[in-house]
Amino acid sequence: MKTINKMKINIEYVDSFLAKHGYLVKCLNGCSDCCYDYFYASLPEFFMSLQALSEMPYNLDYFYNKSLKTEAYFKKYLNNELDRLSFKAPFLLANQVVDFSEGEYINYPKLPACIFLTNGRCSIYKYRPNTCRKYGTTVTCEYIQNNDYQEDDFTNYHLYPLYENTRMLDQANVKPTAYPLWYYYSQFLKPEFRSYVFSKLNDLVID
Ligand code: SF4
Ligand code: SF4
Repeated sequence: MKTINKMKINIEYVDSFLAKHGYLVKCLNGCSDCCYDYFYASLPEFFMSLQALSEMPYNLDYFYNKSLKTEAYFKKYLNNELDRLSFKAPFLLANQVVDFSEGEYINYPKLPACIFLTNGRCSIYKYRPNTCRKYGTTVTCEYIQNNDYQEDDFTNYHLYPLYENTRMLDQANVKPTAYPLWYYYSQFLKPEFRSYVFSKLNDLVID
């Protein structure tokens, strides 16, 4: 089956399973509190976000330019963390910062919002990556207040398709790629790489 289609089917399966078992699978209308941090996403999730955009009337440069702004912020204020990204460090330095007193931003003051946040809404919400998806369906979101399924084997078993999505492009003995979404866009969507990236996406849509 086509990779991107399979990923969409997996997401729809998990959303419908969770909804059937009493979990809220959508964020509160108008809430984007989580979207001022940056999260790691897998390579297949990057391609799925690109496919989601290509199905909408969006100008790709709009998102590419936002990713460049985020990159500029990192270069100016968080250069060390940029180095860590290029080495695929397993932990976000951001997650080690415990003083959130600077303001509404989760980890760093004035950290640009996720590149997909447009007018307070996620531009790829239906196909957002697992990190965003699972945050809203665990007890960690104070607004949604779902039951914590982390100790619930039955529910965890049925979340497996989400894990499968992150591994769709894994090759044996190759460490899975994972970067923040803005990083994929700033690096892979440079004009000189675009035709290559879209040919790869095309392969995943028609494979
Ligand atoms: S992908 Fe969407 S839900 Fe996730 S952080 Fe970005 S805007 Fe928010
Ligand atoms: S997971 Fe919760 S806090 Fe985060 S955007 Fe959704 S409703 Fe808001």
